[in-house]
Amino acid sequence: MLKTGLIGWRGMVGSVLIERMLSENNFHSISPYFFSTSQAGSRNPLKISNNPYLIDAFDISSLQRMDIIVSCQGSEYTNQVHPELRSMGWAGYWIDAASVLRLNHDAIIVLDPINRAVIDEGLKSGVKNFIGGNCTVSLMLMGLGGLFKEDLVEWASSMTYQAASGAGANNMRELITQMGMVKGSVGDLLTDPKSSILEIDRLTRECMASETFPITEWSQPLAGNLLPWIDSEIGNGQSREEFKNQVETNKILGRGDNQIALDGLCVRVGAMRSHSQAVTLKLRQDVPLDDIHAILDSTSVWTKVVQNRKDTSVTELTPAAVSGTLKVAVGRLRKMNMGAQYLSAFTVGDQLLWGAAEPIRRMLEIIISFEA
Ligand code: NAP
Repeated sequence: MLKTGLIGWRGMVGSVLIERMLSENNFHSISPYFFSTSQAGSRNPLKISNNPYLIDAFDISSLQRMDIIVSCQGSEYTNQVHPELRSMGWAGYWIDAASVLRLNHDAIIVLDPINRAVIDEGLKSGVKNFIGGNCTVSLMLMGLGGLFKEDLVEWASSMTYQAASGAGANNMRELITQMGMVKGSVGDLLTDPKSSILEIDRLTRECMASETFPITEWSQPLAGNLLPWIDSEIGNGQSREEFKNQVETNKILGRGDNQIALDGLCVRVGAMRSHSQAVTLKLRQDVPLDDIHAILDSTSVWTKVVQNRKDTSVTELTPAAVSGTLKVAVGRLRKMNMGAQYLSAFTVGDQLLWGAAEPIRRMLEIIISFEA
């Protein structure tokens, strides 16, 4: 069985990956080794490993013994370890959740329900770096990929509502702490129906502005607020998150120079673990709505088209409805006032599953059967 090193399994993406690997019995088809950047030498809390103690994730010689390395640790780690490992001649498979290698010419962004052909071609031609896509991009394609596969999209613009989990475990904890503090700040006023809502509002604002409000991870309050910027500035007015939309979508689709224009605004909201996005698409032609439903339905077995009605939208097309499931819901489908080629859509999916861990888990399975 292929020796598979797991790094970053304690984090947000990594723990969801382990959960999914356990439920799909993936540990029966690999020989797993667990690494850590911070706890090398400690006892491994998971009972599924070959090594009772955690291995140092910076120890290149231990990493070199692996056939496959799956990292959910982050870009800093990949930047530090991957080039050194490759320069020492390591020719194993590197599967990664971090963004740093995604656009390299020798790497493929993996989202197999959408780009299995690109992945298979890459494996046959000896590609060894397989990288999970940006969560928002992967979820957009899991929702709307059918239209892209049929080459019906001339351009698309997305406005995102991204969950706290996209920023990692510590950010999720801080959001809940913030929520608790906001609730605590109004004390008994909330249960007193005679209390003034303006007084409640004033107390929550005071709490959020106070010096003791926890903002170590977010730098700003997220509870009761939103943050219209995600990731760093890249110098042209776009955030790095917004930049990824066009480049990663086109790379996943294997479109080369024949790029589809994609752009939009990425916004962090206080949802816990599912990203939503409202997308405006300009189609290349006027496609009847029924046909659009059928095309979207065929995107993947996990894609669920939601009828464009109020009752279905507020129950089935929300972070609360899809969180913890592999379902990617797509709805609010209608032709817009701008003309019959303009389609509105809203899609939502669990960004820790299809947005992060699931494409990586499935890539591991694909490599195992390719090597068998
Ligand atoms: P994370 O939750 O911050 O975890 C990363 C590492 O931080 C862990 O493996 C752990 O490493 C360490 N860590 C420090 N404090 C921790 C705590 N309180 N709980 C758990 N782990 C803690 O990061 P992540 O969100 O999983 O992201 C990992 C990589 O995936 C990043 O490159 C990210 O950009 C990418 N990604 C994330 C998402 C997402 O939805 N979050 C989606 C797509 C891609 P040690 O055990 O070695 O200390």
